[in-house]
Amino acid sequence: MFKALLLNQQEKQTIATIEQLDDSQLPQGNVLIDVDYSSLNYKDGLAITGKGKIIRQFPMVPGIDLAGTVVESGDERYQPGDQVVLTGWGVGETHWGGMAERARLNADWLVPLPKHFNGKQAMMIGTAGLTAMLCVQALVDAGITPESGEILVTGASGGVGSVAITLLAQLSYQVAAVTGRAEENSGWLKSLGATRIVERHELEEPARPLEKQLWAGAVDTVGSKVLAKVLAQVDYNGAVAACGLAGGFDLPTTVMPFILRNVRLQGVDSVMCPFEKRQQAWQRLGELLPASYFEQACREVSLDEVAECAEAITKGQITGRVVIKP
Ligand code: NAP
Repeated sequence: MFKALLLNQQEKQTIATIEQLDDSQLPQGNVLIDVDYSSLNYKDGLAITGKGKIIRQFPMVPGIDLAGTVVESGDERYQPGDQVVLTGWGVGETHWGGMAERARLNADWLVPLPKHFNGKQAMMIGTAGLTAMLCVQALVDAGITPESGEILVTGASGGVGSVAITLLAQLSYQVAAVTGRAEENSGWLKSLGATRIVERHELEEPARPLEKQLWAGAVDTVGSKVLAKVLAQVDYNGAVAACGLAGGFDLPTTVMPFILRNVRLQGVDSVMCPFEKRQQAWQRLGELLPASYFEQACREVSLDEVAECAEAITKGQITGRVVIKP
């Protein structure tokens, strides 16, 4: 038997309970894993509270991320005792996820635990950190260098934003951090490497089609009017890596930044990211994240505390990362 957070739906409400389950109840897969840690992402918050249509079938064990140890494997790439990491692939959405002591998964979804990290550290990074790395890589691939100018990071206090700031600072970029919680988080964001703080409300004003050019590039986790404002302020030939919708999924913009300033908008998805790119991103995270990153804001919680944290993350009240020890 193993312990799991189980989501069920009753009268269109999502109900989260902690249950004792048997291995035979786990979904199909060729690798059985003891979960060492999971983590809480914005998407998990939407799934657990039922505020977003993330779960397609109930009952569901949430948790889009996990780090664990292989117990049984029907795939020659993995042996019992191997440590692995999983992010994305619809786990915690369509396939039972990481918020349980055990998981049965498809070997194709796994990445060997990068040598730089233990399981808890990998979950401090999780989907949020992997996505941040992919966003930073998108700016590098777009030819944006530290000499190009300042980079703006929106949703700075969140999982993706805080790792993006750390990575950009390690790569010697000047980083401006956009936050709605400047009073609370400015000191912490600067300790991660932000060189200045921009108040969120400044970016929530309606955007003119083109505004003063301020940023060589941006990592946007917010979408909606904030992304529209960012696009209007990006330099000629600049690039924006957009991965999130914490402020909404609409985009009230015009074609002007694209056709008059050669601005590029690069979408970033980590969920279906192919194995090779994923493994390279994990490797790069290992090279770039300083030891100090793992000493900063991270809260470790048990399964009993997840529901409360899920509510808080959907309200933008979590700072940094929450890791879960099932
Ligand atoms: P998170 O930890 O909740 O961080 C989001 C941050 O956005 C918050 O900390 C807050 O930062 C800011 N924010 C919250 N509500 C806002 C609002 N209404 N308007 C403007 N800003 C707001 O979430 P996360 O895990 O970093 O994820 C960020 C976004 O990226 C989410 O939309 C998530 O779904 C998306 N995501 C996408 C992928 C992908 O593969 N494409 C992967 C991971 C995450 P401040 O308080 O500092 O302003």
